[in-house]
Amino acid sequence: MFENLSERLGSVFDRLSRQGALSDDDVSTALREVRTALLEADVSLPVTREFIRSVQKKATGQAVTKSVTPGQQVIKIVHDELVNMLQGDGPAERLKIDNPPAPILMVGLQGSGKTTTSGKLARRLKERENKKVLLASLDTQRPAAMEQLAILGSQIGVDVLPIVKGESAVQIARRAKQQATLGGYDVYILDTAGRLQIDIPLMEEVAQVRDVAQPRETLLVVDGLTGQVAVEVAQEFDAKVGITGVVLTRMDGDGRGGAALSMRAVTGKPIRFVGLGEKSEALEPFEAERVAGRILG
Ligand code: GDP
Repeated sequence: MFENLSERLGSVFDRLSRQGALSDDDVSTALREVRTALLEADVSLPVTREFIRSVQKKATGQAVTKSVTPGQQVIKIVHDELVNMLQGDGPAERLKIDNPPAPILMVGLQGSGKTTTSGKLARRLKERENKKVLLASLDTQRPAAMEQLAILGSQIGVDVLPIVKGESAVQIARRAKQQATLGGYDVYILDTAGRLQIDIPLMEEVAQVRDVAQPRETLLVVDGLTGQVAVEVAQEFDAKVGITGVVLTRMDGDGRGGAALSMRAVTGKPIRFVGLGEKSEALEPFEAERVAGRILG
């Protein structure tokens, strides 16, 4: 997930640790390399700047450089700042899915992995949290997408709302709610239509569905490989329809990881899960401590 960044930072910190005594200049030199590594990983410039400024403030001066293990201290400061950058005010809360039936709205661009992620999330809630889950596709534009969800549902043993031809997305959302209530479901997941780019009709449709469904969670699915573009997409969706969290897909690929690192700081929204493959079990909760640990090796 963060192989390149991790390697780059690893070599900077190895050197720092081996040096023994450190001057403020040594720390500054190392931080310049950290800055380059973050920018190369496609972390946004303002986020990188703020990160370096914050580490610099804490890592220079007597307390660190005169300590017994200055290199370790600097690494600890970088670690803590990474956690801070990844989780903002605090760790992401659990999904708000008490009070059944709880609607979860999945939004995002076409091809981002929305349908796959809806299936993965349904499977996770069913297997790990013992929830009775209903899946519904609202993609009236693409019958293939509806079929895809139906197939996914049968593979993971999760019910899918039957397809009724000619219904609008809003009508499907209403029927899903009814079915979820009557059928005693804990959660129902609404997989909305996506388009190749953000446009007004897409946002209007999603907003209408949101008003009908009153989702407890609105999760934006974005392709982690698209780096800073993923962050921009998140900003737009949040401004137009409001999101409660983000799922970054394709984090199994050789992406540079910048989207994961900038997302929280730029949008203020937590990354809830990361997609790590095409299979229905390839979804992991995003935990800042663990990710920071992974980056720093
Ligand atoms: P949608 O148009 O947003 O619903 O996108 P899909 O769910 O149909 O996904 C598009 C493609 O991306 C499919 O081939 C998925 O198998 C693939 N995909 C989705 N999530 C991931 C992921 O986390 N990792 C990888 N490698 N592929 C993914």
